[in-house]
Amino acid sequence: MDKKELVYEGKAKKVFKTDDPNLLIVDYKDDATAFNGLKKGTITGKGVINNQMSNFLMQIIEKDGIPTHFVKELSERETLVKSVTIVPLEVIVRNIAAGSFAKNYGVEEGIVFDEPTVEFSYKNDDLGDPLMAPSHAIALKLVTKDELNLITDYALRVNAILKDFWKSRGVTLVDFKIEFGKTADSTIILADEISPDTCRLWDSETGEKLDKDRFRRDLGGVEEAYAEVMKRLKENDK
Ligand code: UDP
Repeated sequence: MDKKELVYEGKAKKVFKTDDPNLLIVDYKDDATAFNGLKKGTITGKGVINNQMSNFLMQIIEKDGIPTHFVKELSERETLVKSVTIVPLEVIVRNIAAGSFAKNYGVEEGIVFDEPTVEFSYKNDDLGDPLMAPSHAIALKLVTKDELNLITDYALRVNAILKDFWKSRGVTLVDFKIEFGKTADSTIILADEISPDTCRLWDSETGEKLDKDRFRRDLGGVEEAYAEVMKRLKENDK
């Protein structure tokens, strides 16, 4: 499958057309941004790690009955995926208080919730991806009520799968962001990526951050953290 014209270039990925209108090729870059593009940098090797990690996790999720965009890994940085129209909602699931949750509510990071939370942000860079009430997403016709219920159900199931998986690798899944897309036949499937760019992952023993917060917060050891979490992913169950 050859790459045709570039259809989209985002912060961390390029997306190309293929001969098949239902399939696209995603090419992962080492570029990193944070704070809505205000902070820019490079994390050497990130594209390879994010591509391989996302594909690995998407396949676990697919096996558990949630449809995903994954088709085939083509190279270290390139993957063939199903073409979708992205639902313009960032779906965020949290198990532990961190990031914007801790900031917005004035609480310490690290509070462990009894039940996971689900929230939505409107994917709109000009508006700074504002938090969005579910009824507002329906009012704006970004999704139907049924689609939103399905997306919420999928998001919680993805959380359960990923939480268990990372636990077996000595890593705590704090929170993550996922995106869904609609195929030509209007099926909702999991799209985008699942990687240390989009998840908070803490070492279960030491609490060390093994994700993009090292870049966002200038903690150093960014490349090392991505490599460590990739090594853990490939380990057998502990
Ligand atoms: N996240 C993301 N992209 C975004 C915003 C958040 O992938 O544009 C992820 C982030 O890595 C974290 C989770 O979503 O795992 C929750 O992020 P939060 O709302 O706390 O925002 P942040 O503190 O990253 O601004």
